[in-house]
Amino acid sequence: MSRITPLVRPNIAALAPYSTARDEYDGPIGIFLDANESPYDNGYNRYPDPHQAALKAKIAPIKGIPVENLFLGNGSDEAIDLVFRIFCVPGKDNAVIMAPSYGMYGVAADINDVAVRSVRLDADFNLDTEALLGACDGRTKVIFLCSPNNPSGNAFELKQLLDICDRFPGVVVVDEAYVDFSDKGSLAAEAVKRDNLVVLQTLSKARAMAGLRIGLAISSTEIIRLMSMVKYPYNLSRAAMEKALKFIDKPIDSEVNVIINERRRLAEILPRYAFIRRVFPSDANFLLVRVDDADGLYGYLLDKGIIIRNRTRVPGCAGCLRLTVGLPSENKALLDALDNYTV
Ligand code: PMP
Repeated sequence: MSRITPLVRPNIAALAPYSTARDEYDGPIGIFLDANESPYDNGYNRYPDPHQAALKAKIAPIKGIPVENLFLGNGSDEAIDLVFRIFCVPGKDNAVIMAPSYGMYGVAADINDVAVRSVRLDADFNLDTEALLGACDGRTKVIFLCSPNNPSGNAFELKQLLDICDRFPGVVVVDEAYVDFSDKGSLAAEAVKRDNLVVLQTLSKARAMAGLRIGLAISSTEIIRLMSMVKYPYNLSRAAMEKALKFIDKPIDSEVNVIINERRRLAEILPRYAFIRRVFPSDANFLLVRVDDADGLYGYLLDKGIIIRNRTRVPGCAGCLRLTVGLPSENKALLDALDNYTV
């Protein structure tokens, strides 16, 4: 029993998980008349492995962690939802998030009827540890942190994140969706050693598999066991796992380096435009920029066929647009369009 055990919702602690046909028989190939599948083989007529053993066996060594500390979900969005469902009693418990940050923490909380307490980042998107911990009370089960943060782009120092883990008696989720673009490092190894840290990563960003919907949670064996118990039995499709097994061996260094170089180049060039007031430092594959007229510039680029994200209505992001770093040719098209923008 860890200090996390008493935080698990009583109905989850008592849950008898669904047992699939393959849980009840995983022996050699035979005549399978146990899962009400179609016998007509088209490659996908059989259910996929609910434990995702082959894909986990590939991903765990890439991440430098034991398989038992890895959960795979239908995007990291699934893992976010599972954390609420495992730890937060609807209508009673609360979660603390930072603002601005990734919108799904709040949406998943709302869906689960869990109150959210937002702690504002400062004007440079720094995180005030004391304010964050000060927002917690006895019913705060989870803190959600995002590093590098979406939409600001900055990564926090690992020391600060670990200090929060040390001092908060509940679960700390650190969303590292963009970690491959950052040189500040990952907490994956720490999540294996600690009892209250969940690190989220994804194949959707640097690994270029957003369409396959595969997210990772790295945590203690206790939390991973809970997540595996609560997930839908077949949360990753056979098709997604097959494709991921094929793509996962492909080295990503050169693509990531191109994105990082392009990010650096854009961060240098963008401030030269008179209508761009600020380019925030980024450790991710996007840049947040503050401009004179966010709606106007957004609409102008849309007319040119360039679609960016207008974040001006997000609290703390007034006047801000978020630009994903694209191919060099796409970034050139963006800059060409900006050259012709008249306020
Ligand atoms: N976390 C962050 C910070 C994100 O920005 C996103 C997607 N934009 C996600 C998680 C969700 O990723 P996935 O595709 O793995 O669900």
